[in-house]
Amino acid sequence: MNIANCRGCGRLFNVLANEQYCPNCQKKLDEKFDIVKKFVEDNPNVPVETVAKETDTTLRQINKWIREERLSFSPDSAYGIPCENCGKTIHTGRFCDECKRKLSNTLRSALDTPPKKENTSWTSADRERMRYIK
Ligand SMILES: [Zn+2]
Ligand SMILES: [Zn+2]
Repeated sequence: MNIANCRGCGRLFNVLANEQYCPNCQKKLDEKFDIVKKFVEDNPNVPVETVAKETDTTLRQINKWIREERLSFSPDSAYGIPCENCGKTIHTGRFCDECKRKLSNTLRSALDTPPKKENTSWTSADRERMRYIK
């Protein structure tokens, strides 16, 4: 069994997968995520700084969620986070569409090891298909 220090409270806890927070902190983080997500949905046109302040969350944490594509600004929001490659404002993820396309070839070999099992790899076409099957 793996034991690690929780990144939130520093307590030792049993690592089941590769989580970085103890169950306690993870729960708090999940609750916080729901609050932030709702706030962003209700206020699509505010900068991340305001979201952080209003929800009492660190900017770093919010950025992390956006980079992980768990959070996203509405497509027509004037605010977002900078593309990690060119600095253009994007609403979720790490790169703008253009850079994603450009980087996909170069990054593919690096990202091939080992692929994470996540639904985020689904294309919207896949999702559409799912909807029709139901
Ligand atoms: Zn903890
Ligand atoms: Zn870019």
